[in-house]
Amino acid sequence: MGFVEKVRLLDYWKVQDSALQSEFPRSRLVLMVDRRLLVTKDAPEVRMVEHSYGDLKQLLGEYGLQFDLSNSCLLDALEAETDMIPLFGTSIEAADPPEDSPISKKEVLRQLGNSLGGSFTDIRMAMLTMKEERQRNLLAKFQSLTKWAATYRRCPKCAAALKMRTSKSGAECVTCQRVYYPTFSPVSITLITDPTNEHALLVRHRGSAGGVFTAVAGFAHTGESMTECARREIAEEVGIEVDSIRSLDMSQPWPMPDSSLMIAHVAVANMDQKISVCPDELETAQWFSRHQVRQALETTLSDPFLKNLPRTLDDRQTLHYIPPAGAIAHQMIRQWVDGKINCHNSRM
Ligand SMILES: [Zn+2]
Repeated sequence: MGFVEKVRLLDYWKVQDSALQSEFPRSRLVLMVDRRLLVTKDAPEVRMVEHSYGDLKQLLGEYGLQFDLSNSCLLDALEAETDMIPLFGTSIEAADPPEDSPISKKEVLRQLGNSLGGSFTDIRMAMLTMKEERQRNLLAKFQSLTKWAATYRRCPKCAAALKMRTSKSGAECVTCQRVYYPTFSPVSITLITDPTNEHALLVRHRGSAGGVFTAVAGFAHTGESMTECARREIAEEVGIEVDSIRSLDMSQPWPMPDSSLMIAHVAVANMDQKISVCPDELETAQWFSRHQVRQALETTLSDPFLKNLPRTLDDRQTLHYIPPAGAIAHQMIRQWVDGKINCHNSRM
């Protein structure tokens, strides 16, 4: 089946509850338990583990766990033998074992992961370490729809109950019939270079892992273009003005803490401006040479789970790492190190 047919089928399933419900027993599913994602274990690449409906029902049943459409959202349509079947994300809670239980909940989840062919991991870690863009974007959708469906229970206009679609792609008010759609926020993320394009200004966020530097990012405000957002965020966070901004052909859905869409930019600023960081958000912001950034990129690639983070206070403020490969910041910084990003001949 071609792309157009697939898109139209997804669109149909999104709104036709009974059609999607009848597909559920044929579907494949990826799983979160207690907001932790089931991923492949000890494989060279971190990926979501998929199960058929029947297998998952049986394997979870052995642990007294159940799932249904109420805690599942539609993620994609997959090629089956002669047609397409839905891919669902299902998110369930595991009850705590009784107080006198000889084994802890952590151990139960470890065993459950094993019998499901994987292990449970933190969503942020999964986003940062999954290599394939499609997998990351499906996880972003899974987490965002799950959270949105759990939050949007009443109509913001008239406070009546909302009827959630089976797909979790929308909800209709039972009284005033308004339809609400999953919300997300646009975010600009900007790599700042100097006019020679040999230096980049990177920042360290308050509370982030020691020695990890990244690009400047922030939420767009109402009434702003993305370029205006990028320019304002740079002024707010590092206290400098940029001469030019260009959007890069890169974006990434990101589900934490809430659903956002990161949109990549590059900007040029003179290095003689005094940097003054916003103390609420940043610990430090510094210019680095291409060589220094390349070293941090190499360290990150050789230690993708950031296991050797610096511990001392001074060392935490030194560039050791950039974000792991699953983050758009990583891709932007990597392209810049490789000389594929420059901002010359561009305009505001
Ligand atoms: Zn209403």
